[in-house]
Amino acid sequence: MRERIQILAYCCLLESALNITVKEGRIRYHADNVLIKVPFDDAGREAVKAAIKQARELRNSLHRPPVTDNERLCARCSLAPVCLPEEARLAHNREWQPIRLFPEDDEREIIHILEPGTSVGRTGEQIKITRRNQPVETIPAQRIGQIVMHSFSQMSTQALHFCAAQNIGVHLISGGGRYVGSFDTRTGSIQRRIRQYAALSNPETCLEFAKKLVTCRGQGQRKFLMRGRRGKGEGAEKLEWAIAQIQRVLKQIPKAKSLASLLGFEGNIAGLYFGALPALISETVPKEMGFSDRNRRPPKDRFNCLISAGYSLLIKDIMNGILTVGLEPALGFYHQPRTQAPPLALDLMEIFRVPLVDMAVMASVNRNQWDVKADFDLGKDQVWLSESGWRKLIDIYEKRKQETWKHPVTNYSLTYRRLFELEVRLLEKEWCGEGGLFGHLVVR
Ligand code: SF4
Repeated sequence: MRERIQILAYCCLLESALNITVKEGRIRYHADNVLIKVPFDDAGREAVKAAIKQARELRNSLHRPPVTDNERLCARCSLAPVCLPEEARLAHNREWQPIRLFPEDDEREIIHILEPGTSVGRTGEQIKITRRNQPVETIPAQRIGQIVMHSFSQMSTQALHFCAAQNIGVHLISGGGRYVGSFDTRTGSIQRRIRQYAALSNPETCLEFAKKLVTCRGQGQRKFLMRGRRGKGEGAEKLEWAIAQIQRVLKQIPKAKSLASLLGFEGNIAGLYFGALPALISETVPKEMGFSDRNRRPPKDRFNCLISAGYSLLIKDIMNGILTVGLEPALGFYHQPRTQAPPLALDLMEIFRVPLVDMAVMASVNRNQWDVKADFDLGKDQVWLSESGWRKLIDIYEKRKQETWKHPVTNYSLTYRRLFELEVRLLEKEWCGEGGLFGHLVVR
């Protein structure tokens, strides 16, 4: 049917462009060696007009059309990673076993420009990186997923245009490790954002999503502490107590009547979690890498410095996912627009903090991967990562993102770096009548 309309549309175009009469279109299926003839007559012209009218109506509609009943069409459809038809079927029928049409991984590189004074430009179809006192590096655009500009590196207008055209995310992180912002070319459809505005203008909807989020993060924090209690002597008691208390608070979350009360539950869980976290640090770790409580803006010790810097890398990736999907980062459902960070990105970050940053940082500390002098710059009341520290953290974080993980709801495996975008798309499904799949990523 779809091919028939396409071939009729081509006939129509040829007629009007060349001012000729076309009597027939033909489709050749090379794989099957079959030729199909499609007569082009008045009925065909009417079919094309009807298809154009329907397409216009769909374009102007705020509602997404339902996925097709013929799932075989989806397997070869280029829109499948955006439309997520298998996940939509799962949302309607929880017995459905979805096949993965969403790509498992994104192997494109993430280029971090750490050295101040580096300039990023364009040469042909490549990105050109010029560092001080180093040979010029060129990388083909198709190999790049993001460029992250740390500190005071420069990027040319030509390179920015090129990145926008090639869908390469450009993100800025300050010298102190704070996420500054992203180059946003706003390619997403406005209908998508209007649906988001409509859904997230409803306080009840926001509260429902926020409960999922706080539950998801709290469960992740609890599971992480449960993993760490194995083989713990003295610390085990403290961990057991915190695990039980977190469970107690988690049970209260469904009863939250407002975002403010939910914030209270979240704060309780965070206090219990960070209070117990020091028990996960191995006794062989130097005391300089120790952790007693969570502090930030600025971080006062090396462990907090690593967590804060990791969260900056994480929010940058979440923003990349949100901009790729085309949602409005400034409109969230839990965090309020108080800081420079976009609320929706802060919301979605909650899901990934434990598996991508807390666990990766803790593992690196317990492996004694950090040089307490060379990897950190110490101020009077603050600790920053040095350039070597940033390189190490980026390496640890990017390696963690490459690990594959089985999604607990869709039941297929994909890398963490693909999960960001999938989770944003699943969030969008919540207000498109295909909900129930978002916010279930909990470490096992
Ligand atoms: S993937 Fe979506 S757009 Fe493509 S055929 Fe399936 S339902 Fe239609």
